[in-house]
Amino acid sequence: MKRELIMASNNAHKLEEVRQILGSDFSLKGLADIGCTEEIPETADTLEGNALQKARYVSEHYGVDCFADDTGLEVDALNGAPGVYTARFGSMNGYGESHDSSANIRCLLDRLSGAATRKARFRTVIALVRRHGAEGGKQEELLFEGVVEGEILRQPTGDGGFGYDPVFAPAEAGGLAFAEMSAEAKNAISHRGRATKKLAEYLWFTAWLRPEPRRGKQGGTMTDE
Ligand code: IMP
Repeated sequence: MKRELIMASNNAHKLEEVRQILGSDFSLKGLADIGCTEEIPETADTLEGNALQKARYVSEHYGVDCFADDTGLEVDALNGAPGVYTARFGSMNGYGESHDSSANIRCLLDRLSGAATRKARFRTVIALVRRHGAEGGKQEELLFEGVVEGEILRQPTGDGGFGYDPVFAPAEAGGLAFAEMSAEAKNAISHRGRATKKLAEYLWFTAWLRPEPRRGKQGGTMTDE
C-alpha cells in the first residue's frame, strides 16, 4: 500500500517535481487536498526556520504528518543574498510584486551588472514533522538539505521550469540553464531533488524499520508495536 505524505505547498509545479522524485511508493498530497487554504506564516530569517514553521503549522492545525521546504538563491557577489528573501527579492527592491519571477530576475541581473563573479547556489531545506514518528510516540522533527552550485547567466535562456530557472546554470550541466533542461535532468541534480532524495531515503529506511501507522476509530493513529 502507498504511504500518504502531505507537503505544505500549493505549488503544482513543485508538487509534481517532488512526486516524481519520491516515486510510486508514496502518495503525495498538497495543502488543497487537506482543505488548508489559509496563508501559512513564513516569518523566520533562515531557510531552516521557515521550513520548520510551515511543517509545524500544518501538523498542529491539521493533525497530519507533514513536510515543508524552503529554498534560497545565494549569490556570492551579493554576500549570499537574496537567500531567505529569494521569492520577494524584486518587490523588496522596487521591482514588481512579491513572487513575480520576471521582476525577481530583472532585479538580480541589474544587481549583478559589472560583478566580478557570478557564482551562486540554490539551497533547499526540507523539514519533516511526524506526530508519532520517534520511539515512544514522541513528535519527530528532522531537516534535510540539498545544494546545487552554479552561475547566474547574463540573460534569461530557455522556457522550462519556474522562478529563476532561466538565469541559473548549474555547474554540472555544461552551461545549460535549468530552464533548458528536462524535468528529469533538473531533478537529478537540483537542490530540491537532492533534499527530497535524502527525505525519501530516510522514509524508506524508517518504513523498513517500523510498520505504517494505522488509522484508529477516532481518526488518531496507532501502530502494531
Ligand atoms: P520556495 O521556498 O520554494 O517558495 O522558493 C523561494 C524562491 O526561490 C521562489 O522565488 C522560487 O521561484 C525560487 N526557486 C525555488 N526553487 C527554484 C527552482 O528550482 N528554480 C528556480 N527558482 C526556484
